[in-house]
Amino acid sequence: MSALHEIAPAKINLGLTLGPVRGDGRHELVTVMQPVALCDSVRLTPAGLGASGDEVHCPGVTGENLALAALRDFRARSGWTGAAVRIEIDKRIPVAAGMAGGSADAAAVLRLAARAASVHDDEMLREIAAGLGADVPAQVRPRRYLATGAGERLHALPDPAPFGILVLRAAFGLSTGDVFREADRLGLPRSGAALEARSADLAAALAAGSPLAPGDLLLNDLEPAALSLRPELGAALEEVRATGAVHALICGSGPTIIGLYPDLEGARAAAAALGDRDPRPVAVEPWYPFSLRDVSL
Ligand code: ATP
Repeated sequence: MSALHEIAPAKINLGLTLGPVRGDGRHELVTVMQPVALCDSVRLTPAGLGASGDEVHCPGVTGENLALAALRDFRARSGWTGAAVRIEIDKRIPVAAGMAGGSADAAAVLRLAARAASVHDDEMLREIAAGLGADVPAQVRPRRYLATGAGERLHALPDPAPFGILVLRAAFGLSTGDVFREADRLGLPRSGAALEARSADLAAALAAGSPLAPGDLLLNDLEPAALSLRPELGAALEEVRATGAVHALICGSGPTIIGLYPDLEGARAAAAALGDRDPRPVAVEPWYPFSLRDVSL
């Protein structure tokens, strides 16, 4: 087997509508998942002589890697008995920032393993992905999706026209579980009917590839919960708004803040205006799936 390579793009949530808790304990939600051009690089090669099994090398991440879990679940589900492999992850996506970096890597490993095993079954990959985490199925074939259920029910949306995104990370982390619990405490979840209406409105607003839905559809219901736990995020949101962002919002459960601009230049100017801070703000564009239409023959 020769080396195989996949790009794993991060995602942002363009708004998030929170609903009630379902039977499995997860909240229902409606969100637009947008891959962005901030990517990890994932390589699969045969494991070295003497390796006792599959291995993952991922500098910057400690503890069990979701990429290894993806490989294990792929082998179990597909019955693939190919020789042990080595996965190397070059991390560019900030860790624990709400940008689904671990999910992106796990999904990239599912694609790599499927290629190595000559498995052509995206449905199976998505089922394995759903067992790994709510954000993983959308990363199996990254593109813009309207995600419903707990994030696992995916409706593909057209690629958006380009726009600029400022990613402003916080110097602290926020646990996703804590944010959802705070949202419950504050009584933020909406009814199932409100969720259905939001889903229909978003699908209609984005059907033609508009870069962004109107502002009220971009609201993140988790924002008051994240702000309640970390009030200092309010000042950071104001700073991003002051750079001229069309919208500024907390990404998913935070603490990362995203600013949205008409183009990449706007996002770059905002990153420069916010100055040389740690973590550094970055400006990115949407990530687009590779298409044969883009290749001039
Ligand atoms: P999400 O948006 O899906 O909630 P996140 O972006 O907030 O995720 P990740 O960067 O995916 O957070 O990582 C969350 C935790 O998962 C980290 O604390 C890390 O230890 C663990 N983890 C396991 N595998 C990976 C990986 N490949 N990349 C990043 N983190 C990983």
